[in-house]
Amino acid sequence: MLGDRAVGADRGPLDDAVEQLAEACDLLGYDEGTFQMLAAPRREVTVSIPLRRDDGSIEVLTGHRVQHNLSRGPAKGGLRYSPHVDLDEVRALAMWMTWKCALMELPYGGAKGGVTIDPSRYSRAELERVTRRYTAEILPVIGPTRDIPAPDIGTDEHTMAWMMDTYSVANGHTVLGTVTGKPVSLGGSLGRAAATSQGVVHVAVAALRHQGIDPGGATAAVQGFGKVGRGAARFLAAGGVSVLAASDEHGAVWSPDGLDVPALEDHVDRVGTVVGFPGATVIDNEALLTLDVDLLVPAAVECVLHGGNAAAVQARLVVEGANGPTTTEADRILQARGVLIVPDILANAGGVVVSYFEWVQANQAYWWTEAEVEERLAVRMTTAWDQVQTESRERGLPLRAAATCLAVRRVAEAHQQRGLYP
Ligand code: NAD
Repeated sequence: MLGDRAVGADRGPLDDAVEQLAEACDLLGYDEGTFQMLAAPRREVTVSIPLRRDDGSIEVLTGHRVQHNLSRGPAKGGLRYSPHVDLDEVRALAMWMTWKCALMELPYGGAKGGVTIDPSRYSRAELERVTRRYTAEILPVIGPTRDIPAPDIGTDEHTMAWMMDTYSVANGHTVLGTVTGKPVSLGGSLGRAAATSQGVVHVAVAALRHQGIDPGGATAAVQGFGKVGRGAARFLAAGGVSVLAASDEHGAVWSPDGLDVPALEDHVDRVGTVVGFPGATVIDNEALLTLDVDLLVPAAVECVLHGGNAAAVQARLVVEGANGPTTTEADRILQARGVLIVPDILANAGGVVVSYFEWVQANQAYWWTEAEVEERLAVRMTTAWDQVQTESRERGLPLRAAATCLAVRRVAEAHQQRGLYP
């Protein structure tokens, strides 16, 4: 295979991302040079973020912004605040954004940003200072025609408002298209907050039907109860799927009769975790992944389905709400066992689709109704699902390889048409 990399215990998301690209390049008959061109990030910026803490002390944090590809348009991708952020993780996430944007036919390349920080240990004022300084440091490479950040793990609409304001102050005028996922009162799109989860559920329902399972009688487990997992649980339950289990970083809860998702959301708003939800049994976080359900939605972090637990997964369908939740080894084990995996670059693309709608609305200063946004999102998700199905059928490929091939081909064509400079 092209770009062979060592297989070892310390593999991370970047190894999986590069291996997926190498497999797609092999399938598409691309040479080593094309693979290298598609694998290498166009730009990487690492910055120090000196922070004055509320107690007057100074702490220096590290942030990154990686623009993996710019061939099809400005870079697009989220900003993550997590203690686990490192450059290789950001590189992997940026590469997946390139394929996701190409798969959804959005006029973007791919990027990702991250700051190595545990946001739960900092005050809101400190997080604002971190965000503003990080934005100021990466200012030369971002903007509506360069690279448009959005929320990801540990960041939200407030983070985006601070980024937009910092960029706008530096430029002397308000630039709404700087970031997406902003508050609606500040040029955010109606429907953006729920878009990723809605997209996950659009493809989950299509995939359940594809597997011959009636969504109305299906059962599901959702890992992660943040911006993606929580909404996914809500829309699944609203669609008649019985959500038997949900988890967050503090633990997991399970009920054989199905969780009352709106009540669970109220509980999380009050207590800050799913743990302690009345009437549900606390189970081990890992146990959620191997429950006897039709549908598993990992919507937390990378590499949670791995060689050590993939053989025990009982779900017939995995829909990747998170980016990179399934390692390459787990992918092979699950495929061999006939488990259908809807890959991240398709399953969770609803967020970037509505981010694109938000950017379009901001650039035109003309706002759509929520119904317009939801309808256009549904069309985009269904179209992408159909295209991946067709590619999978025609080439005899699993959905991940089919989706990656489709996306990589579009990016490679853009490279080819633009030519190499000089
Ligand atoms: P978030 O910070 O809002 O939520 C993350 C959730 O995962 C939290 O509930 C956290 O407690 C939980 N979690 C963390 N580690 C866990 C573990 N080991 N077991 C169980 N739960 C755990 O983040 P988010 O925006 O919901 O992002 C989740 C995933 O979805 C990430 O992979 C992200 O890249 C991806 N994603 C997000 C968006 C978006 O629009 N927010 C779009 C596409 C993809």
